[in-house]
Amino acid sequence: MIVGGIEAGGTKFICVVGDERGEVMRHRRFATSGPEQTLADVTGFFRGARAEGLAPEAIGIAAFGPVDLRPGPAFGHLTATTKPGWSGADLVGPVRAALGVPVVIETDVTAAAVAEARFGAARGLATFVYLTVGTGIGGGALVEGRPLHGLVHPEMGHMAVPREPDDDFAGICPFHGDCWEGLACGPAIAARWGSPAEDLDGDGLRRAVDLQARYLASGIRNIVYTLAPERIVIGGGVSQLPGLVDAVAGRFRDRIAGYPGLDAHASDTFIVRAGLDQMAGPTGALLIAAEAIRSRLRSGRAGP
Ligand code: ADP
Ligand code: ZN
Repeated sequence: MIVGGIEAGGTKFICVVGDERGEVMRHRRFATSGPEQTLADVTGFFRGARAEGLAPEAIGIAAFGPVDLRPGPAFGHLTATTKPGWSGADLVGPVRAALGVPVVIETDVTAAAVAEARFGAARGLATFVYLTVGTGIGGGALVEGRPLHGLVHPEMGHMAVPREPDDDFAGICPFHGDCWEGLACGPAIAARWGSPAEDLDGDGLRRAVDLQARYLASGIRNIVYTLAPERIVIGGGVSQLPGLVDAVAGRFRDRIAGYPGLDAHASDTFIVRAGLDQMAGPTGALLIAAEAIRSRLRSGRAGP
């Protein structure tokens, strides 16, 4: 089975053609410009692959968000995104119209979760959360093997977390100020400490990692008590801060204070670094496209 995957990001779009096992055969990266130009680049890439005999039977999109996933006229459209020119943009319609195949869409973090469950740090788990801590904070949840979305997909990065007593940084979320993302995403670290996270060292690094670990542990506590995940997988640029993920796990143990008393929550496999890096999103996009074909075959449906 040949399928296509698109990781749609605010900085770049990564397009891949591959198979149902997530094996990539063609790969191209486009800088994100306006919606029309970017989607024209994307569909041009897949037309080119088709001309070489690699015709995707379905396309999966792993999208930045927020994106409307409810069946209806706004399905696959971005909603109030902070990326200029993209609010309201339809990601699915133009791709389906240009290529004439089924197009499915999930958030980038959900697609990454699907890929981590198959090949990465959550192999074999049915209920877990993939978190990215990068330009923003986002979470994708698989619940009993299925991506979680209801009225909209989860927006875990915008949860409220208690302010740390020694922190008076205002927070940078344009909507909420000091929500989780506003306090603990990469740009928040840069604004608070006056230097991008990757450039911190010495005592500054030690203090930043300690505060960051406390904020991440607070948010993870909320997720753990809400969704009962079997594991928390952390990716994104900030997860590379030396010692951060171990520090988060330690603070998390303190924050849950022995409740509900599971050994699993204290184990060193409960909060872990992501197993796949850059390719998690595109691989997840291939996997959701393949799953769309399989479920169509099971239900006897055909056509885009
Ligand atoms: P995006 O979220 O846009 O997909 P990233 O996951 O790379 O991209 O996140 C970018 C953020 O991660 C920036 O705020 C950057 O400062 C931070 N970052 C990137 N690399 C590192 C690193 N090695 N250590 C700590 N922070 C990093
Ligand atoms: Zn917010």
